[in-house]
Amino acid sequence: MNKHKRLKKSFKPTFSKFGGSLPIFSHKDAITAALAEPSSGLIICGQTGCGKTTQVPKYILEAGLSSSKMIAVTQPRRVAAVTIAQRVAHELGSSCGQTVGYSVRFDKRVSDDTKICYLTDGMLLREAILDPTLSKFGVIILDEVHERTVSTDVLMAIVKKLRETRDLKVIVMSATIDIPKISEYFGIDKVVSVKGRTYPVEIYNLKQPEGNYVDNAMISILQTHLEHPEGDILCFLTGQEDIEDLQSLLEEKIELGKHPDYNMAPLVVVPLYANLPNHLQLRAFEKCEGRKVILATNIAETSVTINGIRYIIDSGLCKMKSFQTTTGVDTLKITAISKNSATQRSGRAGREAPGKCFRLYTEEIYDEMSDSTPPEIFRTNLSRVIIQLKAMGIKDVSDFDFIDKPSKQLYINAFKELNDLRCLDADANLNELGRKMSIIPTEPVYSKLLIHSTKTEYKNISKDIVIIVAMLSVENIFYAPRNFQRKAERKHKKFFVLDSDHLTLLNVYNYYIKNKGNSGFCKENFINEKSLKKATQISNQLLGYLKTLSQKSDGTVEETKAEVINELDMIAKEADENYDRNQLITKCLYEGLPLNTYQCHENIYRSTKTHEECNIHPTSVLFNKFPTYVVCSEIIITSKKYMRFCTDISKVYVKD
Ligand code: ADP
Ligand code: MG
Repeated sequence: MNKHKRLKKSFKPTFSKFGGSLPIFSHKDAITAALAEPSSGLIICGQTGCGKTTQVPKYILEAGLSSSKMIAVTQPRRVAAVTIAQRVAHELGSSCGQTVGYSVRFDKRVSDDTKICYLTDGMLLREAILDPTLSKFGVIILDEVHERTVSTDVLMAIVKKLRETRDLKVIVMSATIDIPKISEYFGIDKVVSVKGRTYPVEIYNLKQPEGNYVDNAMISILQTHLEHPEGDILCFLTGQEDIEDLQSLLEEKIELGKHPDYNMAPLVVVPLYANLPNHLQLRAFEKCEGRKVILATNIAETSVTINGIRYIIDSGLCKMKSFQTTTGVDTLKITAISKNSATQRSGRAGREAPGKCFRLYTEEIYDEMSDSTPPEIFRTNLSRVIIQLKAMGIKDVSDFDFIDKPSKQLYINAFKELNDLRCLDADANLNELGRKMSIIPTEPVYSKLLIHSTKTEYKNISKDIVIIVAMLSVENIFYAPRNFQRKAERKHKKFFVLDSDHLTLLNVYNYYIKNKGNSGFCKENFINEKSLKKATQISNQLLGYLKTLSQKSDGTVEETKAEVINELDMIAKEADENYDRNQLITKCLYEGLPLNTYQCHENIYRSTKTHEECNIHPTSVLFNKFPTYVVCSEIIITSKKYMRFCTDISKVYVKD
């Protein structure tokens, strides 16, 4: 090791400038003392904003408690991992990716010098697949455990086990945590409780349930702005769509308000959701001219703290994953939040001064809310978890030491799916396909499709499949503003490939690349530029994973697959009305997505496997066309059961 490097490694940060006034600061010595012994553990419970996530890792680093290893801090949400890493890097006077870094799906900023790494729980789980002892890490901080995501639950069990076999220190943190339960599960009896300063928050409920929540939110925000003294507003919504809707509604009103007759004080609208590019996410934390209104998903509930908030507008809703054990489908539904969430949300207004919370629902609706949200493991498709556990060498997964065990039925469904995907061997261990699938961080159906596409018979169409999967992983490719609905639809139709939603997505992407990612092109055609950019990023990552998989054990790369990298802009040239290619892609979709093949009989589609009925979604290019055989990549259940992205496979379908 050269001298320069060593100097860098022994660099000890000092940080008097930030964090000294936060409530957690007075517990610093107690925290470091509790972690002095090898394999020690600690539970930290404290109000959102008291300094857990940003300060504790620095205490550990400063006290040298992680020996020379990295400190991992898990976050259930990628926005939190990214913004907090940037904040802490700033506090340490370095840039993100040096001492402090982050790693989230499809995006990573770490270097050899990184000592504190904020990662999504999903990414730490991936690390555990690649290295089951997580040997890089000396301290693992499991943050926000109250969210009880599946990945956090799996990690809790893994970390618990690892502590028995090697020196690994663990800290479990949260704002609202069931201390006795966590304490018993981990066998940790040291607890630090941080009392935050809080001010009273007055709560107002809707008198009558009326109107839709986006309109109600707009009215409440404007009223608050016009009638209440200074202080920023935080509005909780469900996702990108309603945030964008509300943003454009508000911006219209703000334009009107500029008229001398109204002379409305400045109001700045700042969105905050997962799909937003990183630099825009940081805007929520910056000061601005006039009053700020932040339109956020429940990311702002406990994961990140924004200073200056005095008013909360709470839609009472969130997007939640739920799993239909009967149909075996994961759905993302807009659902009522729990009482616990409602309390957390209103609490955001009382951190620095007394505040107000306007709930866009009645007291009766509040009374009907459940006390807290059930853990995700009870309402998810377990197939991905099972692949991950098996990849870590855990054989008997149904006996896995989860803090709360999922039902038998969930295991049965998942094993059925994995069998259908043919990724298990006779002993229910991963076969070669299964092992490959465990490396790709997508749902098993997509991992299988991606791997399937690399077969030589498909002649290098895997880059097209990669793009299709990337496009399926981002939301809202097409958009249609309220006043331009017809025009937008006309523009969108130009991109339609009439027998396939998947080829349509590929087509949009290829045109986007052909136009060099031009903003004008996106605007003109009502295509969501942000989503396309994201899809480009995801495609590159997925190509990278496929490249890793095709690497031979001696480290060389098979030629045919290595060259797919950085070739994205070549595709546009080839893809033009390439009939044979489309035929191959169709065949690959049919063979690679084996779970969801449907046959039409008298305008009714039934699964070729289970004979269950399903409908083509109205947004599909195949809606009302009734081709005999279709394959779909996503099933959603709203008022009916729908196939959302479909391709006509009648020409390639082979009867069993
Ligand atoms: P906790 O994890 O206990 O909820 P954090 O460590 O996330 O709290 O935040 C501690 C404090 O750091 C917050 O109260 C806020 O004042 C400040 N803070 C956190 N993130 C940022 C940021 N991106 N920009 C400015 N201040 C921040
Ligand atoms: Mg936190």
